[in-house]
Amino acid sequence: MESILQERGMTSAPGSASPDLEIVHTCSVTGQAAAKSRNAIRRAKRNGKHVFVTGCFTGTDYSVATKIGDTVITQAGETPMLDRFAREVDMWLQRPTQADSRKTTSLPIASLPTIPGAHKRAELRIQDGCDAHCTFCIIPKIRTTLRSKTVEDTVIEATRLVELGHKEIIFTGVFIGAYGHKTALRRKQDSPNSEYLADLLDAVAQINGIKRLRISSMEPGDVTPILLDAMVANNNIVPHLHLPLQSGSDYVLQKMNRQYTVEQYLEMIAMVNERLTVDGLPPAITTDIICGFPTETEEDFERTVKAAQQVGYLHMHVFPYSVRTGTAAARWKQLPPEIVRGRVQKLLTLDEELSLAYRRQLIGKQVQIIIENQKEHEETFERGRCEYYAEITLKTNVKIGELVNATVTDVTSEHTFAKECLPILTN
Ligand code: SF4
Repeated sequence: MESILQERGMTSAPGSASPDLEIVHTCSVTGQAAAKSRNAIRRAKRNGKHVFVTGCFTGTDYSVATKIGDTVITQAGETPMLDRFAREVDMWLQRPTQADSRKTTSLPIASLPTIPGAHKRAELRIQDGCDAHCTFCIIPKIRTTLRSKTVEDTVIEATRLVELGHKEIIFTGVFIGAYGHKTALRRKQDSPNSEYLADLLDAVAQINGIKRLRISSMEPGDVTPILLDAMVANNNIVPHLHLPLQSGSDYVLQKMNRQYTVEQYLEMIAMVNERLTVDGLPPAITTDIICGFPTETEEDFERTVKAAQQVGYLHMHVFPYSVRTGTAAARWKQLPPEIVRGRVQKLLTLDEELSLAYRRQLIGKQVQIIIENQKEHEETFERGRCEYYAEITLKTNVKIGELVNATVTDVTSEHTFAKECLPILTN
């Protein structure tokens, strides 16, 4: 979006200046996210002169979005969203549009970026849409059609991001494991072995100059031997996977309409560990867990605790269950909030313990860090993420966005410290 605006001669409003245009890219995945999106639009309307609203809220709450925003661009339709965005910008600027209005069934590149994004690790969307219908999730109602970016288009976009200086590319999507498929339901897929995604990883990993490739999130059932072959064969694909567990109870997983059992999940983790452990260091596994889902008993919750301990996560993203109107689970009897809060707290404490235990295994290991934040407050330390996804604190003169070779020296519950080794030549 920023590239599209820059191509039309627009620049960021400096400091606290009131901009002519604000874009609110919304989220609607939970009721709380939708409320925050609403507030963000209202805030932008107060500050700015014209507000564009994009993102999922435009699908779940279209009439509200059009009432409180000025220009609303939904995800729906066959014309790529960024093409429609470019057309709306042209209309707002009152100039003849040059935006493409092609229709497509694959997920297209609308506009290649022309400037490096604010995030040093560039996100590249390779897939959109989900029809898995987890009972807590609204997404299948607003992004019903599954589409994937072709291998050729993904390589073009990734090459551009590398040329712009990004050292790491992260594949994103609503259901990445369904890459290349028309459905996310594995029982209905013609070839549910993730080979399309494995082929894509192989192709992008070969791009000249790409330092790191990461998958943002995978459904457990999509982690297959073929996919792990691709990860092992390309040493620039990082040894980290985000694999949502959501619950350690089969009963709750079934009520959630998830596509795996706890046993299958743990078997998959064992396979990942076996394939991706290097010099005794297992890959980093992170996860999402929903706490206090309707019907979750104390026993169910204890099963989640046990499963988490068995996996030994680097990080657990713990969500208290939040009612999303329009989903099946929203109609079920909810747990008392104090019970949910207590369970969340217990998991957060466990998260600290597990994270510390995993990061202790990094001590003495050499890692590569992309510097993301520099010199916070009065400190002399920089921060960045290593290939194992742990945030690392170290002293270095290397600039934001560049890679540093370092050895991990110490870990605390809040920090992972490292000492810089020889710099890496980036070209
Ligand atoms: S897999 Fe489930 S949680 Fe993920 S987008 Fe699809 S319905 Fe939502």
